[in-house]
Amino acid sequence: MFDYFKRKRRARVSSSPFPPQWQAVLDRLPMYARLPHTDREELRRLIQIFLSEKRFEGCGGLEITDEIRVTVAAQACVLLLRRQTDIYPTLTSILVYPESFVATSVRTGPGGIITEAAMPHAGQSWSGLYSPAGGGPIVLSWRDVRRGAACPCDGSNVVFHEFAHQLDSEDGAVNGAPMLGERSHYIAWARVLGEQFRSLHQTLAQGDPAWINPYAATNPGEFFAVLTEFFFERPRTLRARHPQVYAQLASFYRQDPAAWPTPEGCEEAAGVSGQPPADEPTRTARATASKPHAD
Ligand SMILES: [Zn+2]
Repeated sequence: MFDYFKRKRRARVSSSPFPPQWQAVLDRLPMYARLPHTDREELRRLIQIFLSEKRFEGCGGLEITDEIRVTVAAQACVLLLRRQTDIYPTLTSILVYPESFVATSVRTGPGGIITEAAMPHAGQSWSGLYSPAGGGPIVLSWRDVRRGAACPCDGSNVVFHEFAHQLDSEDGAVNGAPMLGERSHYIAWARVLGEQFRSLHQTLAQGDPAWINPYAATNPGEFFAVLTEFFFERPRTLRARHPQVYAQLASFYRQDPAAWPTPEGCEEAAGVSGQPPADEPTRTARATASKPHAD
């Protein structure tokens, strides 16, 4: 019965006209221009539902505007396109700070040593697993959201990252495996991504530059979140270097971003032929090292 009313309400919300001021924000997002036209239509419907159900709260003196709400919602909903989705069912609030915010993180290091440290963050995702109310918030730095949105092909996007964590938590465990359906899909996912995760660890242990933000090596959950950023922002590079990983993500997200048009001046243009830019690993590692964490 609850589902019936929810479906009715969502149908009503998504069939109402898309506000022109929201469309103006979408038109300024480079990522939106890359999407196939049919996806743009679906994205607008998802944004309408998302914004009717999630509460935004400005922190640190930030006033929430349509630009903030639509910029976050649009990128969050790109992860939901073409899929059966309940639109982040356990997420109720999104807290937005003007810039990076300081939060305490707990890390498990080599030998299982647990450390706690306060550090600047670009984003954080709290799954319902950790919230007595059943739904944890997402916390974002607006400055980092804007940066991520302005450059759609640098492999770094805090909104994709945090919302990938939400998808990961939907089955009750944040373990790098979102809901994949059939058992055979889980087996293939674990084999392909597990192999790459171990290989990344080996690369870093040898002191070699990583092909992806080294933060991905933190744990399988972070690997999936960072990989999601890479999949949508550097799809041709991922497909050329790790076709099996690309295929797994393309199957889960039901999208083929390597087929999207590349914006002019995009860093990934050199990767179209299958040859990644020679300086890519160093540049990626350097570019991400100084950024606040996206937990
Ligand atoms: Zn993370």
